[in-house]
Amino acid sequence: MTKTLTPPATIGIIGGGQLGQMMALAAKPMGYHVIVLDPTPNAPAAQIADKQIIATYDDVAALQHLAEQSDVLTYEFENVDLKTLESLGDITPLPQGTHLLEITKNRLAEKNFLKRLGLPVARFSEVRQMADLDQASRVVGFPAILKTVEGGYDGHGQWDLPDAETLAELLAHWDNRVAGPFILEQRIEFDYELSIMVTRDGQNQVRTWPMTINQHQNHILHTSTTTGVKPIVAEKAIQIANNIAQAFKLKGILGIEMFVRGDSVYVNELAPRPHNSGHLTIEATNISQFEGHLRSILGLPIPEITLHEPAMMLNLLGDNLTIAQQELNKHPEWHFHDYGKAQIKPNRKMGHITVLGHPAIAQLTDWGQKHADN
Ligand code: ATP
Ligand code: MG
Repeated sequence: MTKTLTPPATIGIIGGGQLGQMMALAAKPMGYHVIVLDPTPNAPAAQIADKQIIATYDDVAALQHLAEQSDVLTYEFENVDLKTLESLGDITPLPQGTHLLEITKNRLAEKNFLKRLGLPVARFSEVRQMADLDQASRVVGFPAILKTVEGGYDGHGQWDLPDAETLAELLAHWDNRVAGPFILEQRIEFDYELSIMVTRDGQNQVRTWPMTINQHQNHILHTSTTTGVKPIVAEKAIQIANNIAQAFKLKGILGIEMFVRGDSVYVNELAPRPHNSGHLTIEATNISQFEGHLRSILGLPIPEITLHEPAMMLNLLGDNLTIAQQELNKHPEWHFHDYGKAQIKPNRKMGHITVLGHPAIAQLTDWGQKHADN
């Protein structure tokens, strides 16, 4: 059991983007105080929090200052230095610990961990240096994907290898400045991608959220929808989430991305934080992924998660935020979220829209297609 932290305890969040913002939006109505650390003045989370420490994520003194002022610490992204994080845990509790982060930061450690648990993953092989690639491709076969072991996001640091010719080509033109190590993965020809959020509450009860089918555009999440998962697939996904939560003695929320082909499910990757595909839980479930995350690290109970209605979320990237703002008067069904980022950039996640119920899902799907390439 986790020690319970009741309001008005102070929650310290490392990272002030939209995930931190939505954590703060869940914490404030419960009476908690929130401090965020982020280098950008008035970052999205800082607009909601009681206080911001403006500092970079490698500013150890500033991180210590955050820890000293907080009763509990959490983070909104994976790229925190593990040693620093560990040392902060000596100042104030970090219920999530660092073990999960250590594994999920490294695609190879992550895949090995999942494999050891007996969970289904794509075939994979370590590629320490490019000279190993040929050998790895004999283990993995084609089509395959080469990925950097650390630091990838939104498809960065990935190379598609449909066949042996592409592999030869890649080797011939390889830029040695791209740092390894790498992992070569079998490309799963999936029917669709799925994700599920999971945590354990203050009494160590595992709680899972309704899973979503996720569609990407240009390697960035475009939509998440709660409908269309076959019951046999759903059952497998929930079982996998339970296994992972128990294995890690999970605290804080974890997003699990999976591939589905027929009735088979493969785990793709783990995100030890709230996940973009879980944003629809704010309106569509009794307890959002953000409140669930907080309840877990604060040692509070979490009831069984229930879905009010089928739901869909659409990401607003770049200029689509402005377009959606101008159409708000036509869409009473939209739950509209603007993260308050100072600058619009192409492909930047600026906000999202969530809708509930089948008619609104159909309409938002059309809207998303119409504005796909903005
Ligand atoms: P994100 O930040 O969006 O989660 P990422 O850079 O961490 O992305 P992955 O999730 O591993 O990387 O890969 C991004 C996308 O590439 C996946 O959602 C999937 O569409 C595709 N992909 C990655 N690995 C595989 C695979 N082994 N088989 C099939 N498709 C894959
Ligand atoms: Mg991913």
